Amino acid sequence: MDRGAIAALILPMNSAIVESRVRCPFCGERISVLLDLSGGGQSYVEDCQVCCQPMQLSFDVNDGDFTNLQVACAV
Ligand SMILES: [Zn+2]
Repeated sequence: MDRGAIAALILPMNSAIVESRVRCPFCGERISVLLDLSGGGQSYVEDCQVCCQPMQLSFDVNDGDFTNLQVACAV
């Protein structure tokens, strides 16, 4: 299999993961989060990388890009 065919198999999966920066509602630090857009809009809890408090992340997906990214305290 040539390298172009391999890249074509891998890229569509990777392109659904995007990185974004959000501000933690607890400690105020800006942290990066990875958003998986492949399943449409989501709402889930992720721990802050700095203070380990649970943040409620939610976003919508529109035309392959995320919109309405929101972060709130999940406690
Ligand atoms: Zn934090």
